[in-house]
Amino acid sequence: MTAGRFAPSPSGDLHVGNLRTAVLAWLHARRTDRAFLVRIEDLDRVKPGAEQRQLADLAALGLDWDGPVVRQSERARLYDAALASLAGRDLVYECFCTRREILDAPSAPHEPPGIYRGTCRNLSDSERSAQAAVRPAALRLRSGISDFTVQDELHGQYEGVVDDFVLRRGDGVVAYNLAVVIDDSHQGVDQVVRGEDLLPSAPRQAYLATLLGAEPPTYVHVPVAVNADGQRLAKRDGAVTYEQLQELGVDAMALIAESLGLAGSTMAELLDEYDPASLPRDPWVFVPPTG
Ligand SMILES: [Zn+2]
Repeated sequence: MTAGRFAPSPSGDLHVGNLRTAVLAWLHARRTDRAFLVRIEDLDRVKPGAEQRQLADLAALGLDWDGPVVRQSERARLYDAALASLAGRDLVYECFCTRREILDAPSAPHEPPGIYRGTCRNLSDSERSAQAAVRPAALRLRSGISDFTVQDELHGQYEGVVDDFVLRRGDGVVAYNLAVVIDDSHQGVDQVVRGEDLLPSAPRQAYLATLLGAEPPTYVHVPVAVNADGQRLAKRDGAVTYEQLQELGVDAMALIAESLGLAGSTMAELLDEYDPASLPRDPWVFVPPTG
């Protein structure tokens, strides 16, 4: 099976920008005869009831998905097995650095901030046990490269940094970069449509996929929604969720279709009309309506 997917974090209600990304993920999957999967990325920041409301909003827009909804919280065994496989090949090491220490570490002028420079890569056994007495270790990938190139349908060849990124955090939570790679490969996802704010993490994930014997997916990083100030759209910007818009009598689907330059009012009509080549490439400026 080949599949596309939408994978929200249940940290609150989806806003129209998230819903637009879901619509695009559905359109790309369906127009290429792929299955469309929904996965709940609930390893962290779960708000009770959010998953149910997110699924209800997707269904209200007319998005259908194949098979049961998968939750990352139910897949610990898969992540542990992958970590063990990497560790068995000496591709994992313990890191004791705090976020502050990493941000404060000297970096080369052209490097983005927060790149990990391998401080804990070669600790001796005694250094490691001294550190372990102070704080729990995160697990990092012993990366064999410094950058990797992915193929993106909208951005073309994209080359990005691959450092020794975190696989499991110090608090024991599996890192997003590991979970997403395991899940996509395990679920047969070979098309990843998501917000372009995630483009810089694609090279890390694609490289990790190759280490785990999986083919990296085709990426489609789509423009995100921003507010009138050009900042990423957020709940605090006003009426931005499906429910809030509905209360104001605003049709979220019509807004999303219009933002894509489409006239249809159902998913089936959008599918007939949609051409990725004409997808607007600038961020979608969304000014929340007022009542
Ligand atoms: Zn470290």
